[in-house]
Amino acid sequence: MGVLGDFETAANALRGARRVVFFTGAGISVESGIPTYRDKLIGLWGTYDPQGLETAKAFRDNPALVWGFYLWRRFQAKSAKPNAAHLAIPKLASDVRKVSIITQNIDDLHERAGSISALHLHGSLERPKCFACNRVARLPLEQFNLPASGLEKNPPRCDHCNGRIRPGIVWFKEDLPPGIWKESIRLVRSCDVLVSVGTSGIVTPAADIPEIACACGAVVIHFNIEDVSLGGENELMLIGKATEVLEALLNELG
Ligand code: NAD
Repeated sequence: MGVLGDFETAANALRGARRVVFFTGAGISVESGIPTYRDKLIGLWGTYDPQGLETAKAFRDNPALVWGFYLWRRFQAKSAKPNAAHLAIPKLASDVRKVSIITQNIDDLHERAGSISALHLHGSLERPKCFACNRVARLPLEQFNLPASGLEKNPPRCDHCNGRIRPGIVWFKEDLPPGIWKESIRLVRSCDVLVSVGTSGIVTPAADIPEIACACGAVVIHFNIEDVSLGGENELMLIGKATEVLEALLNELG
């Protein structure tokens, strides 16, 4: 796929900006080998709908299946490497330009690409917690093996209350972590440019972020393989794969 769009305007907006927010979604990690939920799962999990495993009810009904699924995803994310799009973001930070990241992703590829911090709106694979008392459980991945056969794996128990440990992900119908959401909104309201990368804008309330930035007068630049623009006056839509468009932007910025 080629790269379309006006990179000069995007680069000029970034040159003049003091506060930039990157808002990222599953699409930025596709080229690292982590599929989106819209991509069909392959291998052992090929017959499952990932969204059907993304609820508290699914965990209550079959904790071993849901824990096994997330363990598999955690291994998949750990073996993935940050791609050129993740790596481009810390390169854009400078003395005059403060760059923050708000991500819907549950992988840790921004951190491994050298970004100091990313606000994880939907939680993290690296922070499992207790289903009963909500305490974060320190469970490094090295403690686990992938189930050799079959998909199910009983979740460990909480050291404090013996509740079941669940993945540290925000599931459908659950609230976003309030502190992270509040901080994200503060950053979005005060940024000059919001760069949205690889997100469909479907999963709310995170999906409202580009609209909030537009309403507050920021320039909003979308990078996606399809048109996800909202029709606002201050928007730019640059179509292409995340790695290609972000590298093109870095080149334009010199
Ligand atoms: P989404 O699946 O709704 O949308 C992905 C977007 O990425 C689409 O608009 C698609 O056109 C675009 N895209 C696909 N390949 C791309 C590429 N190479 N370059 C640029 N864009 C590309 O994802 P979402 O908006 O993040 O929301 C869905 C939920 O999926 C989120 O809550 C997220 O937590 C979860 N999720 C996360 C991961 C991850 O952590 N890597 C993976 C799968 C799903």
